[in-house]
Amino acid sequence: MASTESRCPEGSHVHRLMTRARVPLVRPVFEGREREYLARCIDEGWVASGGHFVREFEGTFGALHDRSSAVSTASGTAALHVALTEAGVGPGDEVIVPTLTFIASANPVCYLGAAPVFVDVDPVTYTADPARVAEAISPATRAIVVVHLYGHPVDMDPILALAGDRGIMVIEDATEALGSRYRGRLCGTLGDLGCFSFNGSKVMTAGGGGMVLVSDSERLEHVRHLTLQARQRGREYVHDEIGFNYALSNLQAAVGLAQLEQLPELLRRRREVASRYASAFAELEGAVFSPEADWASSNFWLQSVLLDPADRDTVLDALDAAGVESRPFFFPLHRLPPYRGERQPDLPVADDLHARGVSLPSSADLTARDQQYIVDLLRAAILT
Ligand SMILES: *Cc1c(COP(=O)(O)O)cnc(C)c1O
Repeated sequence: MASTESRCPEGSHVHRLMTRARVPLVRPVFEGREREYLARCIDEGWVASGGHFVREFEGTFGALHDRSSAVSTASGTAALHVALTEAGVGPGDEVIVPTLTFIASANPVCYLGAAPVFVDVDPVTYTADPARVAEAISPATRAIVVVHLYGHPVDMDPILALAGDRGIMVIEDATEALGSRYRGRLCGTLGDLGCFSFNGSKVMTAGGGGMVLVSDSERLEHVRHLTLQARQRGREYVHDEIGFNYALSNLQAAVGLAQLEQLPELLRRRREVASRYASAFAELEGAVFSPEADWASSNFWLQSVLLDPADRDTVLDALDAAGVESRPFFFPLHRLPPYRGERQPDLPVADDLHARGVSLPSSADLTARDQQYIVDLLRAAILT
């Protein structure tokens, strides 16, 4: 168990920087106008929030999702925090969250004094199981956070039906799912609010940052207001409620816009990487590659294999020793210290996936040669 604990996802950014694996788990690809746009920020003397790149980035991001605009934020976590605030979540409320996810899906629920109620996931998509969500609904349920884990969409229709009947808000944690589609519709546009992240590991980066999509345009302007300290327009130092300093800087938006211009290409190349892994692992018994349901189109943000539990740490160690960065699946949140309650729920599917899953290098620019190297290492590790 000790080795499992030390492989917890927290801190792994630092870990990655320190170890500089030859083949990192994910690495950003800068092949567009990043330098040009950054230089313009400096030349124009506008690096902080409120610059024109912020407006262009929001407009372009919104348009991509068939929306008039979107609200940029300082991070994906901030996007989730402001979305839950807009959903009216507060003390005494319950918010349903899948247990198999990054901890930032749940922490903002606690920032607001509400309680996350963890539910188990589906063994095929690794995302919230609608039947488990239905069981978890109580009179105190204010919102459901769905997480399109590793880029694979959640089966949304049953969850939207459950929520709609009861006036429960649905917030999509689409931080890993930019460009993924559920029955043809883009993730982040399916619930009441959709949240994205542009940290260094996601399918595109702004050097940090996030975005919120809002289905209702009045709510959109209120979310924007909240991210800008709830400052009244045209009246200095008049604030009409308690807001946040969650604005994105012009520098970040400049990089984000340049990356967004390359998104179709970045997604296309990631799919190519995924299809090479899929064919290689189809031949290898004992390693099941990331699924894609027939109603889903994943962005394959993190690509992974399910192994025999006895092989998981062997594979992680063998890849590490060969300079290839890999990771176990997220630690089920209901088992982590801040969320381990007195009544420990039994969420066996997430536990089983955690015991078996390994995420592999998934960058858009991963070469076929490096992939072959990874597959060969993995095969050798599970055959010994
Ligand atoms: C990355 C991520 C976040 C948080 O995004 P940041 O920009 O790093 O704050 C939240 N939820 C999930 C599932 C993520 O993968």
